[in-house]
Amino acid sequence: MSVLAILNRPSQDAPAHAPGAPAFHFADASAPQLSVLDLGATRGDGIFETISVGYGKPQALEHHLRRFAASARTLALPEPDLDAWREAILAAVAELEPADESYAKTVLTRGIEGDDKPTGWVYASTSPDYSRVRVEGVRVVLLDRGYRHDIEATAPWLLAGAKTLSYAVNRAVAREAARREADDVVFVSSDGVLLEGPTSTLVLRRGNVLLTPGTGLGILDGTTQANVFRYAESQGLETGFELAGPDALTGADAAWLVSSVRLAAPIRAVDGVELGIDHEFTAALNAYLKALVE
Ligand code: PLP
Repeated sequence: MSVLAILNRPSQDAPAHAPGAPAFHFADASAPQLSVLDLGATRGDGIFETISVGYGKPQALEHHLRRFAASARTLALPEPDLDAWREAILAAVAELEPADESYAKTVLTRGIEGDDKPTGWVYASTSPDYSRVRVEGVRVVLLDRGYRHDIEATAPWLLAGAKTLSYAVNRAVAREAARREADDVVFVSSDGVLLEGPTSTLVLRRGNVLLTPGTGLGILDGTTQANVFRYAESQGLETGFELAGPDALTGADAAWLVSSVRLAAPIRAVDGVELGIDHEFTAALNAYLKALVE
C-alpha cells in the first residue's frame, strides 16, 4: 500500500500551486501526477530524502528535514517550508497500513521550466524486507569516485554532498558491483580517501572505536550514522571521524554500510577479501535502529 501527498506550497519563497488551498492534498500514487516538463524529470534538478518509518513513527525526522534544507541551499532551490513538509510527512505516514517498517520519500524539484513553482511530494510505502542482508551482510567493491576528497570546498557547483535527484551514477555503480560479483560499493576519492556507499554511509570498528569518514568530503551527513554513533556510545564504545584510505577498511575489525530503510548492513568482503562480521553487535544495532522513536 502506498500513499502520496502533494504539497500545495513546498516553499514560502514561491507561489502556491492553488492559492488558498490546504498545505497538501492526497493523490492516487498509482496514477500519473507529474508533468513531462518537470525539471526533476527532465534534468534531475531537485532533491530528495528517504526517511525510515519504524512502527509508524518517522525516524530522525528533524535531521532529515535539516539535510533536505541544506541540499536545497546547495542547489539554490527555493527554501523548503519545513513545517509544511513535516505536516505532509506525518499525514502520509498516518495513512499507511500498520507495518513494522515503512518509509517516506520527500521530493522537491525546481518545477516546470519558467513557472517559478517548485514541485513537492511525499510518497510513503511499506519497506522491502532487508532482514537477510542485515544478518548475512554485503560484499563490496571499492570504486573510484573520480574527484578529490576536497571537492565540496573546491568545486561546490558539482553539488557533492547534496542529496540530488541525479542518482543515475549511484545506480550505475550498483551494476558495476554486480559485474564484479559484489552487492554494493564503497566510493574512494581520486586521491585515495574512503568516502561513502552510493546510498549509505561507511562505518568501521577498530578495537573499541567506531569511525566514519565525516562530513565536508562531498558525502552526505548520514542520519543513520548519527544514530549508530548514539547507540555505540550508549554501549561504552568511542566514536570519531577519520580521513582514511582503503587500508582502514580492509584492516578494520568490522564494518557496515548504514542507511535509512536498509539500516546496518555488515560488510562481509572487500574486493573479494573476506571481512569478519560482528553478528552480535550488528543484531543489537539493527534492533535499536528499527525501534527508534525519534
Ligand atoms: N550517502 C548517500 C549517497 C545516500 O544516498 C544515503 C542515503 O540514501 C546515505 C549516505 C545515508 O544517509 P541516511 O542514513 O540519512 O539514510
